[in-house]
Amino acid sequence: MNTFQDLGLNDDLLHAINDMGFETPSDVQAQAIPILLQQEDDLVALAQTGTGKTAAFGFPMLQKINVDSRTTQGLILSPTRELCLQIANELKLYGKYCKGLNVVAIYGGASISEQAREVKKGAQIIVATPGRMKDMISRNMVDISKIEYSVLDEADEMLNMGFYEDITDILSHTPQDKSTWLFSATMPKEVATIAKKFMHNPIEITVGSKNVGSDQVSHEYYLVNSRDRYQALKRLADTNPDIFSVVFCRTKRDTQKVAEKLIEDGYSAGALHGDLSQNQRDLVMKSFRNKQIQMLVATDVAARGIDVDDITHVINYQLPDETETYTHRSGRTGRAGKTGVSMVIVSKSELRKIKSIERIIKKNFEKKDIPSGMEICE
Ligand code: ADP
Ligand code: MG
Repeated sequence: MNTFQDLGLNDDLLHAINDMGFETPSDVQAQAIPILLQQEDDLVALAQTGTGKTAAFGFPMLQKINVDSRTTQGLILSPTRELCLQIANELKLYGKYCKGLNVVAIYGGASISEQAREVKKGAQIIVATPGRMKDMISRNMVDISKIEYSVLDEADEMLNMGFYEDITDILSHTPQDKSTWLFSATMPKEVATIAKKFMHNPIEITVGSKNVGSDQVSHEYYLVNSRDRYQALKRLADTNPDIFSVVFCRTKRDTQKVAEKLIEDGYSAGALHGDLSQNQRDLVMKSFRNKQIQMLVATDVAARGIDVDDITHVINYQLPDETETYTHRSGRTGRAGKTGVSMVIVSKSELRKIKSIERIIKKNFEKKDIPSGMEICE
């Protein structure tokens, strides 16, 4: 299975794939696409971030739905609004030659009646966050009783974010005999539970080893005094003038503060967190995607699953509480075959966290020193 053609995709999709410049299927695509095209079985697919999971479920779904009908046939649940938009846009791109295709994204923070209107026009595929989807079901704004294919994307993240009840509720409004495709980077207990509950003898595929981040990413830590964190960040930016980076902070407040300080100090930065309006979030994402800002300072929730090309560095301004979150953060770089660096600014008291991350990612960090002022002045 070396080409997309071998996988059994139709001409409309092959045409779009050609336009996008995808040459060969990624591992998860090569494994999942033929199964999903030929069989009606449920599927659990585990693959690291950045391995092309969107297309792995997107291509088969686009090929299987009937675009001549206006019935909603495909439902994709995804943890955040940014991801919903990203997936919907990606599907529109993949399906640009599928005449009559209508993909609608449904997420909180934007007008619900506007979204309901879009759905009414006849969306064959809905991409939704669980919260907003549940809301729309309870207001009778969507009909998902004819769903044939449902996708739980980034299942581990959705469950981490406490969407278990919402997902259960949503799926109870869909037909028993639909196919369910679950995609996840990791397989914690909760994902296994949900797979057991909602799926019938799913086919399982695993690409690479479970719970391990991308091989394309190298990991570095910089030991500093806690009060020098911000200075260290600036030095790292100074020594990497072409940096294109997501800087992770622990709280919305710190995220806002660090972004503001960077801007004040003349750096090209923007903030992304849950206290911003949807409009502000969309704007900052757009400027980041267009590379108008070099450093996106973000909370974990806001940055979940975001796929932006060519991110060179992930900077952990503060380490996350959960070690597993680190895998997701560092997965923002080293995507689609490119290399990337994940940096951690760490104080002495947090050093043992580095050890436990090393155990999870099965890779060692390189201890590095913050470049001195002299080096920067050279
Ligand atoms: P995941 O969901 O596994 O994290 P995505 O679906 O977001 O990964 O894909 C990561 C990036 O790789 C996207 O920019 C996507 O356009 C690109 N991509 C996907 N499949 C291919 C392919 N076969 N060849 C080249 N690039 C690809
Ligand atoms: Mg994804």
